[in-house]
Amino acid sequence: MKIYDAIVVGGGIIGGAIAFELARRNVGVLLLDSQSPGQEASWAAAGMLAPPPDSADAIPLVPLGRASLEIYPEFIAAIEEISGEKTGFRPYGAMEVLFGNDADRKLSTLIAVHHGLGLPAEVLRIDEAFELEPHLNRDLGAAALLRSEASVDNRALRRAVLRAAEASGAEIRSGCPVESVLQAAKRCTGVIAAGERIEGTSIVIAAGCFSARIEGVSQYAPVRPVRGQMVALNSERVEIGHVLRSEHGYIVPRGGGICLAGSTLENVGFEKRVTPDGLGKILAAALEIAPDLADASIIETWCGLRPDTPDHLPVLGPTDIEGLVMATGHFRNGILLTPITSRLIADWITDQRTIVSWDAFSPMRFADSSRDSV
Ligand SMILES: Cc1cc2nc3c(=O)[nH]c(=O)nc-3n(C[C@H](O)[C@H](O)[C@H](O)COP(=O)(O)OP(=O)(O)OC[C@H]3O[C@@H](n4cnc5c(N)ncnc54)[C@H](O)[C@@H]3O)c2cc1C
Repeated sequence: MKIYDAIVVGGGIIGGAIAFELARRNVGVLLLDSQSPGQEASWAAAGMLAPPPDSADAIPLVPLGRASLEIYPEFIAAIEEISGEKTGFRPYGAMEVLFGNDADRKLSTLIAVHHGLGLPAEVLRIDEAFELEPHLNRDLGAAALLRSEASVDNRALRRAVLRAAEASGAEIRSGCPVESVLQAAKRCTGVIAAGERIEGTSIVIAAGCFSARIEGVSQYAPVRPVRGQMVALNSERVEIGHVLRSEHGYIVPRGGGICLAGSTLENVGFEKRVTPDGLGKILAAALEIAPDLADASIIETWCGLRPDTPDHLPVLGPTDIEGLVMATGHFRNGILLTPITSRLIADWITDQRTIVSWDAFSPMRFADSSRDSV
């Protein structure tokens, strides 16, 4: 029976990029997906590449996010060259927009937090903000420019990543749900997928919010879904250049008058549907930022399930089962963290080393605490 060097479980953007990175290092890799790969969170996302933390919980993630954003251009260049496809990478920066009487105070805090974390942020005068983005709300109270941020068309990217992985030699199987991880004497030996035993030396779990459903995984990756709803708008007269973020929502331009507005954070289990309440909040936030979008056409609505963890940080790295590696729980930042995740996991599998410390994200933080509580 064939023994793969590595089996990657889950063909979202994380699993796809890991398969690509391994295949181009001549590792024999098999990527398994329960459906057609890339149809879950990686399809649903907005594609912002934004390292600033959206809450205090996310502060430990900032160095990893910065490292990933730094290598994004070379990652995109490699994927576009090998796949022959465009990914809609837009390294044009983002703007934080603030409204209300305390906008100046919030701006000072925002600038201090960014600088404290080593993230570039510049105060914009109101007239400068309107010059850069003429469709901003005239009630704007304050604004900051985050020049180093970017965005990517995540749907195009996950398609290109899968194509690049295949072109580099990865074998991809759709409709192949992994049920359990096989192990013998504390060593991982393969998986059971669609009733079939498939052998591999390294097994990488990258099944997003579904990872904990795989037998033998939940103690390392107790991930759960957090629903996010999205709306796509098309306007003939409103063209937005930067990613625009307020405390209530965001607008991500795709070019050609199209932009995405998001999002909600909802704990509703694996239920995937959009709701009037969710869409109403998203549209209200988008119109607060850019009221001229009021007569845009709504061209699509959708939702997706973010892979969240108990401490809202990703689960990355080896477990105490030799050969079993986790790459999941990327919650709100999986698109941003794709290049660094694929590099770290591939470095670990090929050389047992990493270029940056990933101890804070170790799967053992959950496995050890679940043992302690027994
Ligand atoms: C509305 C929304 C907006 C977002 N915006 C952003 C953003 O702007 N920037 C950002 O960085 N991140 C964003 N995210 C987060 C980002 O989308 C995720 O963190 C990222 O896509 C996770 O990728 P993944 O490959 O781990 O998971 P997924 O894309 O969910 O892929 C998991 C894959 O595993 C497969 N699978 C599941 N179970 C099994 C099994 N048993 N066997 C085999 N295969 C299996 C699934 O079919 C799927 O293909 C957003 C998410 C949402 C929902």
